[in-house]
Order: sequence, then structure tokens, then C-alpha cells
Amino acid sequence: MNMDPSRIALAVHGGAGTIERAQMTPTREKAYRDALELALRHGHAVLEKGGAALDAVEAAVRALEDTPLFNAGRGSVFNADGQHEMDASLMSGADLRAGAVAGVQNVKNPITLARRVMDHSNHVLISGLGAFEFAHRQKVELEDDQYFFDDFRYQQWKEVAGSDKVQLDHSDKEKKFGTVGAVALDASGHLAAATSTGGMTNKKWQRVGDSPIIGAGTYANDGTCAVSCTGHGESFIRAVAAHDVHALMAYKGLSLEEAVRVVVHEKLPPLDGDGGLIAVDRNGNIVLDFNCPGMYRGHVGADGIVHTAIFR
Ligand code: ASP
Repeated sequence: MNMDPSRIALAVHGGAGTIERAQMTPTREKAYRDALELALRHGHAVLEKGGAALDAVEAAVRALEDTPLFNAGRGSVFNADGQHEMDASLMSGADLRAGAVAGVQNVKNPITLARRVMDHSNHVLISGLGAFEFAHRQKVELEDDQYFFDDFRYQQWKEVAGSDKVQLDHSDKEKKFGTVGAVALDASGHLAAATSTGGMTNKKWQRVGDSPIIGAGTYANDGTCAVSCTGHGESFIRAVAAHDVHALMAYKGLSLEEAVRVVVHEKLPPLDGDGGLIAVDRNGNIVLDFNCPGMYRGHVGADGIVHTAIFR
């Protein structure tokens, strides 16, 4: 396939939810935008050199996992036991290979563990202690509990600890951050998507959301698009949201924009599916859409100019 650097495209998100403009200070807004920009720069550096979309989305998501601002990796929320259980997945649109982990603890970058599952195991999704053992064998970076401790998230958890309430990280008053994700088109025309999360605050019973579920939170297919979702995971699983964007394009011939609109504004709302998604198609068109007040998001194309936004 011919290389065409003019079509490279990358988008990222840092979660969607009740992000109220009134509660955002200029300093906080700048911190979020800077973090999104950094992630875009990491991913763009890969694409600019002719690197693979898969490497670009992994690099971008790693950068988002490393900041405590978002509910993934370092900033993951607390579960009902006061611990962090993280989920992540990624998919290659070129060959439909995919890797995912669910309920992993102490792994610095769950997205990289998901990549190892894809590249170095015969499986797509591994979970819990098994995933931890796999992480050891793969020698991926581990961190102690302290690394994942964030006072803001701790207070957030304290408010609901001991109750049956679970909450979306970003739908709790002003305390909303969120799952992170990236989608990319590389110069060879390949698409990839990646998503990583700490899940929902106070989650119990090893609850797993949509983020590590291929087709629900993450999907990529070179024939159509790459998609990464954020929002109320249970609804996104029931809507098979990420795959549905692909299906609407593949089977109904919809444009990316139209397919995303149908999923985000018609299919998810009746299922209480608050949230949004980012998507890129094989021509490099990018769509970032959501059905709630805000979504941390950004994108960059071949010109290298980074765009970030939070509110509508
Ligand atoms: N979708 C994630 C989950 O349900 C949460 C989020 O997007 O913030 O685990």
C-alpha cells in the first residue's frame, strides 16, 4: 500500500460527562488541555515518522494513563474495596487483531498490557490475577498502590463507600474526569483504536465495563473506522456501541459523521447511555461526539496543529 503522510489523523478523549463550564477554573482547564495536547503530540510523533496507527494510539493512551487528571492508569478511581481495578483494550483495523485486560491492579500502563495480550498470547481478553501474572511474565512496568493514590478520587470514593452507589467518574458534581482513548489513521491507511479506564467509582464484584470489550468500548476495521467510547459502560455494552458505528457504515453505507450521530444520539439515550465517542474513518475524517454536557477531547492531522476542547 502506498504511504500517504498527508492523511494521518489522530484523536483522543479523556472522558465525557457532566462537565459544567461554571465549575471549571482557567487553571484546571489549562491542565486538561495541556494533558490532551501532550497525548496528541506523543501519538502524532509516531504517525509523522510513518509509524503504525497501533503504536500511535498506544503512545497517546499511555500519556493519558500517566497523568492523574484522567480516570485511567495513575488516576484510576477507587472500587468498593478502596482499590484500583483497571480495564483496557486496543484493536488493529488492518487485521482485526485485538488485545484487552480487565480488572488489573498495579499495572502502570494497562494499555501496554493489552497490547502484549494481543502480540504475545493466543487470547484477546484476560482478567484479574491471571492478567497480573501475565504482566509479570511480560515484565511490564508495575507500581505500588501509592502510585495510584489520588486524594481527589479518594474523597470522591469516601462519599459513596459502604453504599451500593456506583458512579461514573465524571458525572459526580464537579468531580468528573474519565476514561481515556485514542483513534488513529496512519500513512499506510491502517486504523487503530485504544481505550483505558479505572471504571466506575465504588464498583463491586469485579464489575467490568465496556472499555475492555471489543465491539462495545473499542473497535477498528480498516474498511470503515476506528472508535473509542466513554460513558456509562453497561449501556455501551448493550448497544455494542463501537461496533455499531462500523456496522452502520459497512452495511448501510452511512458516513462516519452520520453513523456516530445515530449511535450517540439515537441508540444510546434510550439505554441510559450517557457519554460519547471519538472516531476516525479511512479517509482521515474525525468525529468527536457526545450526548452529555462535555467531553475532554482533541485531535491533530497531518499539519500537526493540535485542537483541544472540553465543552460543546
Ligand atoms: N465506560 C467506562 C466504564 O463504564 C467509564 C467511563 O467512560 O468513564 O467503565
